Amino acid sequence: MANLLWLQGGACSGNTMSFLNADQPTAVDLLTDFGIDLLWHPSLGMELGQQAQDVFNRCVSGETPLDIFVFEGSVIQAPEKTGRFNMFAGRPMQDWVRELCAKADIVVAIGDCACWGGIPATAPNPSDSIGLQYLKRDSGGFLGSDYRSGLGLPVINVPGCPAHPDWITQIVVALASGRTADIALDELARPATFFTTFTQTGCTRTQFFDYKQSPAKFGEGTRTGCLFYEQGCRGPMTHSSCNKILWNRQSSKTRSGMPCIGCTEPEFPHHDLMPGTVFKTQKVSGVIPKEVPEGIDHASYLAMAATAKIVAPQWSKEDMFVV
Ligand code: SF4
Ligand code: SF4
Repeated sequence: MANLLWLQGGACSGNTMSFLNADQPTAVDLLTDFGIDLLWHPSLGMELGQQAQDVFNRCVSGETPLDIFVFEGSVIQAPEKTGRFNMFAGRPMQDWVRELCAKADIVVAIGDCACWGGIPATAPNPSDSIGLQYLKRDSGGFLGSDYRSGLGLPVINVPGCPAHPDWITQIVVALASGRTADIALDELARPATFFTTFTQTGCTRTQFFDYKQSPAKFGEGTRTGCLFYEQGCRGPMTHSSCNKILWNRQSSKTRSGMPCIGCTEPEFPHHDLMPGTVFKTQKVSGVIPKEVPEGIDHASYLAMAATAKIVAPQWSKEDMFVV
């Protein structure tokens, strides 16, 4: 059995909702078939008040071994680093986090807020929110760059707003079944298996991307066109497996005509959510995209895009989804 404790800081519960939507395996399967002993969870825990505090205190004292500590949401440090804006079970949540991370064999940050601060850490960041081991792309975060869990690991970051249910359950199952060494992490401590390729990998619109074909307006892109050129899709520069491991086994944002907003990257929300920056490709001189697909320089991109537009065949301008 692996003991797992899940707490929430500055969170909307979105990652909990995502987790509870998991179906292969389900959250119940984790408990009945995969050897996880869920010590407590904000939505599933039965204990309240003093009983809940006792659960946490037994982990802090070492009486209950804490194999996996999952944290969802930002660590709220305001006011003045006391953390008292986020009181939980009789004390600032940040104090629980610090002490539980000191005891845990493995710490997993679920969702952007726990990984990098997420939306709560967007300037001016009144709650002084921070991720467990990062603030945006800067290493450090609440625990510091040198933090290592009991098994000698950094915080394992499973980002997303929310994280895909499979990203959560597959990592938890791997950790609980003693396969921690099989989890390769990228330079941001994300499991490489989910975050090496791009949202664009497997997108059904890549033929429109190749020939620079775009729907004219938001909402026209449900069946034709690539959303990169006008609607701000971040698929070519966002590391995620959203078009390989589909959501609800059915679809993804880009498949349904919604631009990828880059939620797995530390900079999310991009452009600080200023008016006119969401669902709109940011351009220089009204023509040149400010950001181009990862690994391509602007000059090469412009040459490629201009050529693609000129040679675009008729079929690339038509509805490819008609059966
Ligand atoms: S819609 Fe987005 S992910 Fe899909 S091909 Fe276009 S840029 Fe790439
Ligand atoms: S498609 Fe993009 S915005 Fe949507 S969940 Fe995947 S990475 Fe996040």
